[in-house]
Amino acid sequence: MALMDAEMADVLDVVLSDLMRTTEVSPEVRDAEWSGIEGQVGAMLWLPDAGGAGIWIMKGSDRTHQVANVADQAQDWVVEALWRAGRSPVWPECPEHPNTHPLRPVEMNRAAQWVCPVSLKAVATIGSLGQRPSP
Ligand SMILES: [Zn+2]
Repeated sequence: MALMDAEMADVLDVVLSDLMRTTEVSPEVRDAEWSGIEGQVGAMLWLPDAGGAGIWIMKGSDRTHQVANVADQAQDWVVEALWRAGRSPVWPECPEHPNTHPLRPVEMNRAAQWVCPVSLKAVATIGSLGQRPSP
């Protein structure tokens, strides 16, 4: 098996750290070159209950963009995985509006952030969800 692309591994690490800090969903990451598009690198998130989700990045593109994009790609699958595990499928939950809507991954102020879709307020930088704010 080929080693996972370093750029992809780095971006997935950021997004999955949010997932693993805030849920019990811990997907297996598979190196899956499912994309035939040049410059695109693929991987797959996999769990027996939820099945697999293809994730991709464009190699060499802006990292902020890659992180927001992978968070967006992962989000649908996470919702499915949570639902199948009998958990609230709202992820990441908006702290301002609990049980209402998930936060949305967007690029804002040159950072990949989780943003409330109603107030448009940035709640956390992607990769820092569930961490205590540093003093
Ligand atoms: Zn909200």
